[in-house]
Amino acid sequence: MRTYDVAIIGGGVIGASIAFELAAENLRAIVLDRQEPGREASWAAAGMLSPAPDSPRDLPLAPFALKSLQLYPQFAAAIEEASSKSTGYARDGALEVFFSAEADRERDARLRELRQLGIAAEAISADAAREMTGATGPAVRSALFLPDEGSVEPRLLIDALLTAARSRSVEIRGGCEVSSLTRDGDRCTGVVAANEKIAAEHVILAAGCFSSQAVNEPSLSAQAPTRPVRGQMLALRPKGGMGLQRVVRSEHAYLVPRKDGRIVAGSTLEEAGFEKQITAAGIAKILDATLDMCPELAGAQLIETWAGLRPGTPDDLPILGSTGLRGLWIATGHYRNGILLSAATAKLFRELISGGNVSFGVRQFSPARFADRQVRAAQTPV
Ligand SMILES: Cc1cc2nc3c(=O)[nH]c(=O)nc-3n(C[C@H](O)[C@H](O)[C@H](O)COP(=O)(O)OP(=O)(O)OC[C@H]3O[C@@H](n4cnc5c(N)ncnc54)[C@H](O)[C@@H]3O)c2cc1C
Repeated sequence: MRTYDVAIIGGGVIGASIAFELAAENLRAIVLDRQEPGREASWAAAGMLSPAPDSPRDLPLAPFALKSLQLYPQFAAAIEEASSKSTGYARDGALEVFFSAEADRERDARLRELRQLGIAAEAISADAAREMTGATGPAVRSALFLPDEGSVEPRLLIDALLTAARSRSVEIRGGCEVSSLTRDGDRCTGVVAANEKIAAEHVILAAGCFSSQAVNEPSLSAQAPTRPVRGQMLALRPKGGMGLQRVVRSEHAYLVPRKDGRIVAGSTLEEAGFEKQITAAGIAKILDATLDMCPELAGAQLIETWAGLRPGTPDDLPILGSTGLRGLWIATGHYRNGILLSAATAKLFRELISGGNVSFGVRQFSPARFADRQVRAAQTPV
């Protein structure tokens, strides 16, 4: 039987980032993925690096998201150096645009919210927004500039990450489905993957939206109650050299420029089970909102559509930390922010697994919160 310090279930951006970081501690790590690694949510993402909350439910995530944004330049540079590949990382800032008759009031309220969270933002005029993006149209009435935000190209990032992890001697196995855990009393001792027992001191469940059902272990499903939340996406190639200089988003959609001139637009938030179908309504919604922001894109060529499954959780927050079974850890539920949060998640797990000081306040993301809720619900008289 092969023996490792750490076995990671899932080779998306979260599993691969953790493996890359742990390998820097000279830990012998293996990443197991049931298909080609990196082909699920991590492949589908837009790649925005934005700690700005999308809804009040995101507020508890902001400090961790902000830390991850701060770690990103160093994180991306380490991956690029170890892999000799680009991640597409750019720190160009982002714009939020507002359309309504109350646009200035909405913008000012958002500005106050962001500043209270420690997120840098400045109010700018619609004209300035047009100048800074090269693309926003006349319907935009006011805007915010978030100078510290950036973006990566997720398909480049995951490819570079897997190469970088291998360069640090991480073993990465695709087509290798984990079906169960092995245990000795109250200790997890490894996994069974493709009918082979793999022994590991630590096992980390990082199977994205599949985490709740990845292995046959009811206690684990209770602590990692993930579900798929579908997001449809599309890519445009603008005509005649029209470009977009940085990320632009409104309440209804976002546009992310790629270095080769394509513009990626998203997205939908759909409860559609594990079905990665593209729908006419989904694409129409994204295109409508895109053209509201940038009417000049009306003549752009629609070159690709795709969909991915975000790892959602009951409270929209990630699930990070130890479980009731010694040696078993969970790193999942990154929902709409896994690309951004990969840097901080990897550093957190390096600290947790190597037994060093933990520099993040992550108690509110503990897997125990769901197990505790289940116990409370069972104890509530009906
Ligand atoms: C449309 C869309 C847009 C997004 N945009 C952004 C964005 O702009 N910025 C941002 O920060 N985030 C964004 N996200 C969110 C981000 O993509 C996810 O949070 C992140 O990719 C989750 O990574 P993961 O590694 O947890 O999951 P995944 O990438 O889904 O990887 C999980 C892996 O586990 C494997 N697996 C499952 N079960 C098993 C098993 N039993 N055994 C072995 N392997 C298994 C799967 O094959 C898969 O490769 C977006 C997501 C979508 C869908």
